[in-house]
Amino acid sequence: MPQKKDYYEILGVAKDADPKEIKKTYRKLAMQYHPDRNPSPEAEEKFKEISEAYGVLSDAEKKAQYDRFGHAGIDGRYTQEDIFGGIHFEDIFEGFGRGGGGGGFGGIFDTFFGGGRGARSAPQRGSDLRSDMRISLENAASGVDTTLRVMRTETCDACGGSGAKSGTQPKTCPHCRGAGQISQARRTPFGQFITSTPCPHCNGRGKIIESPCESCNGAGRLRRSRKLSVSIPAGIESGSRLRVAGEGEAGVRGGPPGDLYVIVHVDPHPVFKRDGDNILYELAIKFTQAALGDEVVVPTLHGDVRMKIPSGTQSDSVLRLRDKGVPKLHGRGKGDQLVMVKIAVPAHLSTRERELLTELQEIESGTETGTKSEKKHKGIFEKVKDVLEGD
Ligand SMILES: [Zn+2]
Ligand SMILES: [Zn+2]
Repeated sequence: MPQKKDYYEILGVAKDADPKEIKKTYRKLAMQYHPDRNPSPEAEEKFKEISEAYGVLSDAEKKAQYDRFGHAGIDGRYTQEDIFGGIHFEDIFEGFGRGGGGGGFGGIFDTFFGGGRGARSAPQRGSDLRSDMRISLENAASGVDTTLRVMRTETCDACGGSGAKSGTQPKTCPHCRGAGQISQARRTPFGQFITSTPCPHCNGRGKIIESPCESCNGAGRLRRSRKLSVSIPAGIESGSRLRVAGEGEAGVRGGPPGDLYVIVHVDPHPVFKRDGDNILYELAIKFTQAALGDEVVVPTLHGDVRMKIPSGTQSDSVLRLRDKGVPKLHGRGKGDQLVMVKIAVPAHLSTRERELLTELQEIESGTETGTKSEKKHKGIFEKVKDVLEGD
């Protein structure tokens, strides 16, 4: 397949062109390439191409999607009908509207897509649904199978979606002979057009239901609240979108259902902070533990572990517990838990503690002389004070 051309290039506008300019450019090109005005064999293809580009760039949401993801962001997400259906021809060609020219102009798309816009009787895919869900950091790390409740439209079981009472069948509409649309010749600025409108007798369905299904009153679809199971993979990030295929709204007239998108929000944790695959944890220790070294018990997402504090540990130093972080969503292994050590200075001292510390202070000022080291010691104690006050 040849590479698809850039939409901005097709219209010949700059990436930052404003909507007015995009519209003006499209209008000019459309006048030039409309198959009714331009008999060259390439005109129809060209007209379709510029219209597709315009359909995307004139719609803020589609344009944003295209700017971010290119054609991949459009093709996977929108049907041709979505793209062309959003173009307001009446608005673009106003002033040319002799005898409802706008509608006639748009009618060209019916010929492109086999009656795409007007054919209400064609099966339609159901809409996608979105559901938000909150989980704990523990569950995000371990993965979890859970359920969620969604309100959605489903195909009626009683009639299988036909809308007709069981034992009866919908009848082919005699007015449109089952086509769901009625064709009309219309005059337009570019000549006569055949346009199609949905058949008013069957509302475009092509079929008439004489005895409607009692469960769904003939709609063929019903609103239902459903409990669905969702499997959340280990290592999921907050804000991730999970696609559950086929669990969206039911399709229309036998079309496939849409998808369900679950947006997963991970609740903040009272103790742990997450940084990608790593877990940050703040550990307060006594300055004697920091000075002499110790072994302490530290909570992790995977249970308590013993951790060695080396003697001479400074405040704000970071100790690493390997593989105690969050599992990597893509690939093997886990992140680490990073333990940030905060040295806590006791706010109240017992008489004995005060005695010992005073003694220590005397030793320190006795062994170390000179202003430089004095300053250094003050620095350490002030740092500890800062840490305490900061908390
Ligand atoms: Zn029914
Ligand atoms: Zn009809």
